[in-house]
Amino acid sequence: MIITTHAVVGAAVTNLLKFNPPLALGTALASHFLLDILPHYDYQLESLSKTSDSSNLKLDYRLWFKDIRKLGLDFSSAFILVLFFWPPPTSSYLVYLGAGLAILPDGLHFLDHLMNWRITNIFTSFHQFFHTSWRLNSPIWGLFWQILIVLTVLIFN
Ligand SMILES: [Zn+2]
Repeated sequence: MIITTHAVVGAAVTNLLKFNPPLALGTALASHFLLDILPHYDYQLESLSKTSDSSNLKLDYRLWFKDIRKLGLDFSSAFILVLFFWPPPTSSYLVYLGAGLAILPDGLHFLDHLMNWRITNIFTSFHQFFHTSWRLNSPIWGLFWQILIVLTVLIFN
């Protein structure tokens, strides 16, 4: 799933369960793995997928620039949606923590690609265990379903 979907679901779940912060934050983190079970679309980070041997990560600046654009757009939309629906003075800081925890597994996965540490390898195996192998290849349909998930969550929040 894209970062925006994870962040909005994480924020919504945390907001719903904010009366019990440990439960709220635990559920926000768990929401990442539950969403990843569903068949979904993921955009590829070409700078990583084209240099699959992470110990030989070549710096192709054109690919990195493309990836930074994709990630920037995804992070920006996550940031804007979370701040728009849970504005700072009225919303609990927990909501932002929940949104952050809901995207953390993808952040650690990314770190694993870059660093290939033993601890991040273990985490990546755990992440991949939950991650469906049924990927939606069409960005249009793939994003449509994720927009539907985000809208459903926002309507019922
Ligand atoms: Zn994931």
